[in-house]
Amino acid sequence: MKYLIIFSIIFLLLSHSLSQEIPIIRVGLFKIDKEINFTNVGEILNSYINVEVDGKGNLSLRLEEKSAIINFGKDLIILTLPIFLNPQKDKLISVNSMTYKGILEISENGWIINTLNLEDYLMGVLPGEISHSYPLEALKAQAVSARTYALINFGRHKFFDLCSNVHCQVYKGVNFERERTNIAVKETMGEVITYNGQLIKAYYHSSSGGITENSEDVWGEYCPYLRSVRDVEEVNNDVWTVPLSLEEIKMGLNKANIYLEEIFSIELEKSSTGRVKNVIIRINDEKWTIKGTLWREIFNLRSTLFDIKYDNTRIYLLGKGMGHGVGLSQRGAKFLAERGYNYREIIKFYYKGVETQKWY
Ligand SMILES: [Zn+2]
Repeated sequence: MKYLIIFSIIFLLLSHSLSQEIPIIRVGLFKIDKEINFTNVGEILNSYINVEVDGKGNLSLRLEEKSAIINFGKDLIILTLPIFLNPQKDKLISVNSMTYKGILEISENGWIINTLNLEDYLMGVLPGEISHSYPLEALKAQAVSARTYALINFGRHKFFDLCSNVHCQVYKGVNFERERTNIAVKETMGEVITYNGQLIKAYYHSSSGGITENSEDVWGEYCPYLRSVRDVEEVNNDVWTVPLSLEEIKMGLNKANIYLEEIFSIELEKSSTGRVKNVIIRINDEKWTIKGTLWREIFNLRSTLFDIKYDNTRIYLLGKGMGHGVGLSQRGAKFLAERGYNYREIIKFYYKGVETQKWY
C-alpha cells in the first residue's frame, strides 16, 4: 500500500510535464551526511502529509534516523522518510546550488534521488561525458550511446537506477547543460543501439589511442559487438608519459599490498591490441602479477595502453589514449565526424553488427 502511494505521488508529480512514452529514470545524486539547502521547493510530500511551501521555497534539511528535520527559518517540521520535494510552478528545484529537472526524493536510507524523464537526464549527462565543442554528429553518436547505456543499466543500484558519477554516467543537472549537447539529445530522441533487436552494452571512452579493445580483454566478458577496431589515425597523437622513480613505484605498490626492497624487473603481458593485461614484477625468484587495470588505478594512468622504458633513475610509462578502450572512442568520433561520417555511421564503426532504432 505504501509503495502504491509513493508511485501515485511520483506519477502525479511527473505526469503533467512528461510524455508517457519517455522512460522515467531515478538517479542517485548523493547520500546526505550533513545539513543541506534547497530552493524553489513548492511542496513536500510523504505517505501521510502534503506540505505547501511559501515564498521562494527555501529550506534546510537534515536527517535523524528515518526522519527528515526540515527547517523553514521560523518553522520546523519532522517528516518520516521517504519524502518527495516538488518544485514551485514553472521553476526548477535546487539542492546545494545544483539545479535539477523533475522531482527530488529523499529515500529511507538517506539518498537524494532525482526522478526525471530520460531525455532530460541525458541533457545533464552529455556535457560531463564529452566536450560540447565536438562536431554535432559526434555529440549525437554520444547521445545515442549514453541513452542505450542508461536503459540497459536501469536498476543497477539497489535504491535507484543509476548514480551520478563515473561509476554509471556523470550527471550534473541543469547548470551544466550546453546548447549543442541538448540539440544532440533532441535530434536523436528515443534512438538506441541494438544487436539482434536487444539493447547493447554501449560502452564508450575518451580516446582509444589508435585501437579499441575487445570486451573480454578488459572485463572478461565476450560481447560480439564490442570488438577491437583500428581507430582513425589522428588519435595516435593522444600520447602521454608518466615518469616514476623507484620510490614512487614502491609506494604505489604498497596499495596493492606488495612491499619491495630489492632490485626488481618489470615485464608487461599484453592483449592483442597492446593493452597491458598484467604487470609482472620479479625479485630474484619471486614473482608478483598485478592486473593492468589495477596498475592503471594505482598510478592514475590515462589508459592501460602503454610501454615501459628505463634510465638510471626512473622508469617511464609511455602511453596512448584515455579510458578503458572498449566501444565508442569519443576522440575518434570527433575525427570521423570531421571526415563527414554521420552519427549512425560513427556508431556502426565502433560497435560491430549493430543497428540504431527508435526505442520510444
Ligand atoms: Zn553507479
